[in-house]
Amino acid sequence: MLKTSWVASANSAETDFPLNNLPYGVFSVGDADLRCGVAIGDRIIDATGLEAAGILRADPDADVLDAPYWNDFMALGPKVWAAYRAKLQDLLAEGASEEVQDQLTTYSVPMSEATLHLPFKVAEYTDFYAGKHHATNVGTMFRGAENALPPNWLSIPIGYNGRASSVVVSGTEVRRPWGQLKGPDMDLPVFAPCKRFDIELEMGAIVGMPSDGPVTVQEADDMIFGYVLLNDWSARDIQAWEYQPLGPFQAKATATSLSPWIVTKAALEPFRCSTPHRERVLLPYLEEPGPMLYDIPLSVSILPENAEKPEILARTNYREMYYSAAQQLAHHTTAGSPMNVGDMLGSGTISGPSKDERGSLLEMSWGGKEPLTLADGSTRSFIEDGDTLTLSGAAQGDGYRVGFGDCAGTVIPALDDPYKRG
Ligand code: CA
Repeated sequence: MLKTSWVASANSAETDFPLNNLPYGVFSVGDADLRCGVAIGDRIIDATGLEAAGILRADPDADVLDAPYWNDFMALGPKVWAAYRAKLQDLLAEGASEEVQDQLTTYSVPMSEATLHLPFKVAEYTDFYAGKHHATNVGTMFRGAENALPPNWLSIPIGYNGRASSVVVSGTEVRRPWGQLKGPDMDLPVFAPCKRFDIELEMGAIVGMPSDGPVTVQEADDMIFGYVLLNDWSARDIQAWEYQPLGPFQAKATATSLSPWIVTKAALEPFRCSTPHRERVLLPYLEEPGPMLYDIPLSVSILPENAEKPEILARTNYREMYYSAAQQLAHHTTAGSPMNVGDMLGSGTISGPSKDERGSLLEMSWGGKEPLTLADGSTRSFIEDGDTLTLSGAAQGDGYRVGFGDCAGTVIPALDDPYKRG
């Protein structure tokens, strides 16, 4: 059910940000400093200001929101997360006193006037490969249908360590990378701009509590603070040449875009669902004690440079994942690596079983063999300069939705020559 607020715009069935959601972000207005904020309808509540004024504090003794990120708040742990959210919902609920409404209106800005920034300081970033439809599609293209899934795939949530420094907020332009590609002569590579630049539609799970040593799947789920949409920009031609035997490296080092709001695990609780049927029995440490995935419809759209409106290329759902973020996080800790507040785990590309549910252009165009025809008549196998790619997602409740805000990025042309100096 929709929880009604005195902020009228939060009561629409169409808003991403009803009282049920209350996602956490970082914003600025004009040249002012970055502040922590909470989205409600078409406004942003200034959480840094509420803390300084003593109206709503997470920690009575420390100003954890006097920073351009939510990391210090996350570090306070799940009891504080729950208490803060409950107080915030009280203050914003229909029926709050006139005084409270006046106070919170003073500490708020229209979202349309704000610039949004990364909502947390990314400590480290790991990306997984946990969508079975995606892994099957890519494996079929690269190795043939017989060997599509690697032998370990049904037992291990496969991942690689990515670059936290590559993570950017939605709206940041993404420059086409140069890299080492297979040349016309198979043994002699060339250094050239990527010709097969791509997206990967993913969710990012944000670790809010540290660990030191192996954790169970339940403990891992308890450590997760929230989720964002994540676009793992991928240079397919660089990837094809470099990926064996240690996995992707420069193919995934250009940029990773995030939606600007952290949707909390608390807001997603009503949408929990189970991972699909296990095709091979998992080792006990990876067994889930309950539903750990979420039913979140997702889509990816494209807006070519001179087109009037974006068109949807694919629709899928987070519930298509084979492994949950909690399973990935539990697996991540098995060999002893500590996890830190602000670590982020990419889910892996989320594709569904059918053709119009594919989360990358590599799959949509089947490696370039079946180019897509867009509304303006142009075709795409991979991204062209000037294209804007946007990921969207919202869990659908009864009369409300819990949305993420867009995760968008425009691809700009490669440098003329990255090694030219002066
Ligand atoms: Ca990926």
